[in-house]
Amino acid sequence: MKKFLIVGAGFSGAVLANELANNLHCTVDVLDEREHIGGNCYTERDKETGVMVHTYGPHIFNTDRKDIWDYVNRFIELVPYTNRVKALYNGQVYSLPINLHTINQFFGKTFSPKEAKDFIVSIADNSIEDPQNFEEQAMKFIGKDLYKAFFYGYTKKQWGCEPTELPAAILKRLPVRFNYNDNYYHTAYQGIPRDGYTLMFEKLLNHPSITVKLNAKFDASQDVSGYDHVFFTGPLDQYFNYKHGRLAYRTVYFERGVDEGDYQGNAVINYSNEDVPYTRVHEHKHFTPWEQHDKTVYFKEYSKETGEEDIPYYPKRLADDKAKLLQYRKEAEALKSVSFLGRLATYRYMDMHHVVGEALDYAKQFVQSETQGTTP
Ligand code: UDP
Repeated sequence: MKKFLIVGAGFSGAVLANELANNLHCTVDVLDEREHIGGNCYTERDKETGVMVHTYGPHIFNTDRKDIWDYVNRFIELVPYTNRVKALYNGQVYSLPINLHTINQFFGKTFSPKEAKDFIVSIADNSIEDPQNFEEQAMKFIGKDLYKAFFYGYTKKQWGCEPTELPAAILKRLPVRFNYNDNYYHTAYQGIPRDGYTLMFEKLLNHPSITVKLNAKFDASQDVSGYDHVFFTGPLDQYFNYKHGRLAYRTVYFERGVDEGDYQGNAVINYSNEDVPYTRVHEHKHFTPWEQHDKTVYFKEYSKETGEEDIPYYPKRLADDKAKLLQYRKEAEALKSVSFLGRLATYRYMDMHHVVGEALDYAKQFVQSETQGTTP
């Protein structure tokens, strides 16, 4: 019987463990350094208010892939939910992502969709042909005024650097619409788990062939000779003991508040002004409108550089990081009995659905190679 070790009990590790246990004659040990499973997707009920809280910040499951939506729904019920985010800028509340309402309100107009489109084209920086960074992408896309109002300050706070240093791809995550559709995402399927995400991880890992060890920090110098293969889903640079330097991440931390009734009237409000120290405020009871709670809990979210003890969230991927990443990747590829997968081990800005999709695809390949006796 094969013996596998998976480091990390987030989506990558848990999905992979479940697939291996179901499809191969094997045992799977899953280690996680935290005291709970689920990684940053962990949810729990707030003791004081009873509200289901996304402990590491809002997680709205959204995907275009029906197979991934169906897969998650095999374990937990995803209740359809549309994320509608507001932005507070210079004392006014605007609609996000930038849509016809935002444009009309911001410029004091009553544009039709076509008029708004023509107007944005007229104010956008059309001299930029191939945007090389976040700022150029924004200037080309929406012009200086909207960029300065809704992106410049927020992005500086979130990423801790000038938007000119960031890749254009980050901005491309958000749509700009010339109608009144204020759905934050453009994906076909969106939902919030009726009973939180943690239940999914419990179900994925509750298998006679899987053993989960929590509060178990993995160190690559550990003896893993008893395992046929190791799957590492932690930070890539950590695996190699930071020998080529640290890959930069932003981390977030929260200031918790409790109130009666409704604190802000929406799940997420972004604070676009640079002089407001937090990026956004999330009030979690709005993620579960089917539940009744008299009290409410909310979190002011702050962003900072990841220190040694902090949880890495957003990979910065600046030029310097990319150079280090190449060195780490080269070393990782040379290790034939260790695989690296997920957001941290591949150092990519991945959403939950990407992580689940990649873990499933990877598991399928691995299982196939094991049953056919070939290396993936
Ligand atoms: N962003 C911004 N203002 C906002 C929301 C987002 O400037 O009000 C920028 C920010 O740089 C962020 C990027 O757009 O990293 C993508 O936003 P998204 O909401 O996808 O980021 P997430 O927090 O989900 O990673």
